[in-house]
Amino acid sequence: MYIVTEETCRQIIGMDDAFTAVEGVFAAMASGAAYNFPVIREAIGHADALYGFKSGFDRDGLALGLKSGGYWPGNEARGLTNHQSTVFLFDADTGRPKAMVGGNYLTAVRTAAAAAVSIKHLARDDAKVLGMVGAGHQSAFQMRAAVRQRGFERIVGWNRNRERLSRLADTAQEIGLPFEAVDLDRLGGEADVIVTITSSFAPILEKAQVRPGTHLACMGTDTKGKQEVGAELVAAASAFTDEVAQSVTIGECQHAVEAGLIGEADITEIGAVINGTKPGRASDEEITLFDGTGVGLQDLAVASAAVELAVGRGVAASVDL
Ligand code: NAD
Repeated sequence: MYIVTEETCRQIIGMDDAFTAVEGVFAAMASGAAYNFPVIREAIGHADALYGFKSGFDRDGLALGLKSGGYWPGNEARGLTNHQSTVFLFDADTGRPKAMVGGNYLTAVRTAAAAAVSIKHLARDDAKVLGMVGAGHQSAFQMRAAVRQRGFERIVGWNRNRERLSRLADTAQEIGLPFEAVDLDRLGGEADVIVTITSSFAPILEKAQVRPGTHLACMGTDTKGKQEVGAELVAAASAFTDEVAQSVTIGECQHAVEAGLIGEADITEIGAVINGTKPGRASDEEITLFDGTGVGLQDLAVASAAVELAVGRGVAASVDL
């Protein structure tokens, strides 16, 4: 069995590798070749932790396994990341363990890659201004992945606490694009593409603040009750997602569905757009919204890529179980 550490993942998996893996597995999900198993997530009654598994199988890529982990709120005080995850891969032919892969960095790049895939397939070609809502850990990854998809000329950003905005400003500077902190009215009024990546439980952006033609990638809502944009905005947009079952239960679309504004049939799997079996953006005036809920197959896809690269370069440790 191979072991690929967090540090090795950081060194060998770039944004392009993550993008290719995630775009491929979304396509496989839509064609029926890959499917996610039911998600387990439990409050374990110790250390205030939430712990669970996301798992699945991709018959095309032969990725079989699970991501195990969750959220330990006391970790930061110990100098550790609160979100912890590890990916385990198994040989699809024999069931033998194949690899154990550090999942923290991979989670960030696979989530950013999902938003980037949505921008590639749904944003207007002439998008020039990127809007970032949220300035937490994931936001820098999101910005780096998003700017690769269009000829963005500047970035505007908003965060609930202004102190954290330095993360967005610093990342934009490293990328080489001008950055301005703005209020939400300006953000919605100027951005052609908006990425939301917060832990909010109430809408931040409303329909009236977003212009026709905008593409939104709503990436923060991955749990029942979380919400980043108003249900009316979701209903006004053409909605796309990684997986419809998650979108209507734990994703951004849950609130519009609960309010009876949209139904499952109004939400399109992004993989079908990638495969060309369903249309994406229909006009320059349409608002498109990608509800990125985060599926286990994304984790298996990037972890498989990490193992392949690490083994190829001789930097994967190997143990006999
Ligand atoms: P973080 O704790 O580092 O940052 C949280 C961000 O949310 C900060 O910018 C904070 O200001 C903002 N925020 C929190 N509550 C808010 C509120 N009520 N109103 C407005 N803003 C608020 O978290 P992170 O690691 O950057 O992750 C951000 C979110 O993305 C989390 O909710 C996480 O669960 C989610 N996530 C989703 C996926 C996916 O696949 N969809 C993957 C990883 C993380």
